[in-house]
Amino acid sequence: LVKVELINTGSELMLGRVLNTHQQWLCRRLADLGFVVTRQVAVADTARDIQQAVQESLSRATLVITTGGLGPTSDDITRELIAQMLGRRLHEDAAVSRQIDEFFAHRNRPRPVGTHVESMVPDGAIVLPNHYGTAPGLALAIDADPAKTGSNESGRKWLIMLPGPPRELRPMFDLAVTPWLHRELKPEFFACRTLRSTGIGESIVQEMVAPPLAALVAAGLEIGYCARPGAVDVRLTASGESAARLVAQGQTIVEKVLGKNIFGYDDEEIEQVVIRRLTEQKQTLALAESCTGGAIAHRLTNVPGASVVFRGGIVSYSNDAKQTILGVKTETLLAHGAVSEEVAAEMAAGVRAALGADYALAVTGIAGPGGGSESKPVGTVYLALAFPGGVKVKKQLNAWDRETFKQVTAQQALELLRVTLLKI
Ligand code: ATP
Ligand code: MG
Repeated sequence: LVKVELINTGSELMLGRVLNTHQQWLCRRLADLGFVVTRQVAVADTARDIQQAVQESLSRATLVITTGGLGPTSDDITRELIAQMLGRRLHEDAAVSRQIDEFFAHRNRPRPVGTHVESMVPDGAIVLPNHYGTAPGLALAIDADPAKTGSNESGRKWLIMLPGPPRELRPMFDLAVTPWLHRELKPEFFACRTLRSTGIGESIVQEMVAPPLAALVAAGLEIGYCARPGAVDVRLTASGESAARLVAQGQTIVEKVLGKNIFGYDDEEIEQVVIRRLTEQKQTLALAESCTGGAIAHRLTNVPGASVVFRGGIVSYSNDAKQTILGVKTETLLAHGAVSEEVAAEMAAGVRAALGADYALAVTGIAGPGGGSESKPVGTVYLALAFPGGVKVKKQLNAWDRETFKQVTAQQALELLRVTLLKI
């Protein structure tokens, strides 16, 4: 097994100013290539922190990847520090320098003096070209001194330095690091499948799937659960020769146990599934959203090709908008209140007629923190679906913070449509 460690440098990460997306992106890419990261750490841009982290990782791992700190400013010290630590001299690389010249010439800008450091390369390093910026990445082979380590392992370790900006790091990883990894290191057989479910809480999901998977787990299958707003992911992973078989067998069992509660696989979102189904069935959709404030429309319009089936949505936040645009009756509002089964049904039917759609979803609820009552506590939501044969309404209690409330409610509305479309 190749041990891989990841070190993300940057004081902005420690201050919470920037989300450490490299952590997720690189771990994911590496896993897909058959290298599972065994440890990951983020450190500030100080010499002591970076040096200590690199030294520790090199003592454990075969491949160490650092991110950030290759640029021209005073806080960019990764290259110099690592060269110094490993006793490598830095020399100016003429080809890199020329590329940086070209980078600025192409943009009609004078090359800043500070970028000189970016053309400095530690002796013996492999240069990983940067197609979207100036500082190249660097790969260093480090041959452990057997006298010093006292070990008789094969000894060779690798250190790869990647730049901080994601739009530079990602293409560099795909274009330069991936082929290098294939050449230098033997990947582990690794398989991963995520089954995404909705409508069942995470502990119940575990109670349902864990017992029938026990035999596969004994054979090396690993199960992970990830609860998200309105959804639970079941992740099956395995490594070694039988990885693919274990994961495939596990998948069959989970599919059987969770059945129609599985809405998709891996990165698939419920809105993609719904748009695909509607497209296949040549049906259209309209929305009337109150408490979700357009969150459902946002999710649907994230899907390329949504325009074929999504006719539009109304954010009818006020009673007035519900009446004038959707035709919700004054009597209904007075008799039952805006958050009610009856109003939800009239909203759905109203927007379906107004936009001439086959299906229409409507949501009305109390997001909180104020506005709840004994009979309608904060979190009360009515979801309605108008379809060619009528209207159905579902009541939910989503007592979360406002943001989670909107996400969960949007998920439930899309789920109501998904299961209805399954039956057609
Ligand atoms: P530059 O040449 O732009 O200075 P650099 O290699 O020196 O690049 P940093 O200065 O460490 O990299 O980071 C540059 C920018 O990249 C940061 O401001 C941040 O927006 C982004 N960045 C750095 N590290 C991460 C990370 N782990 N996750 C997401 N974004 C990051
Ligand atoms: Mg920088």
